[in-house]
Amino acid sequence: MRMVREWEAGLGAEEHWTQDVLEQGIEHPTEAGLRQDRLPHIWCPGCGIGVATGAFVQAIDQAKISRDNLSVVSGIGCSGRVSGYTDCDSFHTTHGRAIPFALGLHGANPDLDVVVFSGDGDLIAIGGNHLIHAARRNADITVFCVNNFNYGMTGGQYGATTHTGARSTTSPYGNVENSFNLPQLVANSGATYVARWTVLDLPRLRQSMVEALNHKGFAFVEIISPCPIYYGRFNKLGEAITELKRYRDHAEVKNFAPLEEATLRIGGPIVVGKFVEKQAPTLLDLIRSNLPPQAAGKH
Ligand code: SF4
Repeated sequence: MRMVREWEAGLGAEEHWTQDVLEQGIEHPTEAGLRQDRLPHIWCPGCGIGVATGAFVQAIDQAKISRDNLSVVSGIGCSGRVSGYTDCDSFHTTHGRAIPFALGLHGANPDLDVVVFSGDGDLIAIGGNHLIHAARRNADITVFCVNNFNYGMTGGQYGATTHTGARSTTSPYGNVENSFNLPQLVANSGATYVARWTVLDLPRLRQSMVEALNHKGFAFVEIISPCPIYYGRFNKLGEAITELKRYRDHAEVKNFAPLEEATLRIGGPIVVGKFVEKQAPTLLDLIRSNLPPQAAGKH
């Protein structure tokens, strides 16, 4: 509310309609879920991380998760700042280590709702080992991965999701490496909920986040997002609005499509949807069922 008041103070008399909104106590839908004293955020104009954060904050409420019971963990990077803005217990951990930190929280207190919110450089490249093993174990945590195809915060270097052929500060002649197909990677590792959406399709993204938050087992949602400052500029994708139009024109909703169809190529289709949703014993289910009675406290 403080931000709204500061903004309103700079307006003329004709904008006094906003006073009515304030007097009626109408809040922005994300206001209660964000730490107002940490705003404004650090993200560049046109960056999609703010949209993903707004969807997340709304999804927490729609999933009927109490923020008193929620822990959000991030690693390093532009997306790694989300934990600091979310009004709940949150942890900004070291690069690539958000998932093991989250597993520790979940193991120590299985009643907590534990969410990892971070970016592709942090989760897929530096933290890729932790990602695949948490999926393999079907650990009961939720992972939201903003994929903007490069390391934004450190200057636009290429990473494990950078399209083959794409330019970056460290691939000025084009990336020669293959990139990960994230839905295929985590699904084949053992994740029991897997989806991908773009930040343009806010309603489907938010609904998918609600499903992931309520899912028992390892849930992973890839959020495709523009980084106009680095990835967009190096690859001549235009301003953020141009990239959003590209999402509009190239995204194809294909729920439960064969996972190889989710491979991304420059200028190619962006297959989005829910790819996996199934039930399987979680890591803690298996540990508990395997304990001898004396270790489980049953004598
Ligand atoms: Fe977003 Fe890229 Fe700016 Fe980072 S550098 S805030 S990812 S636009």
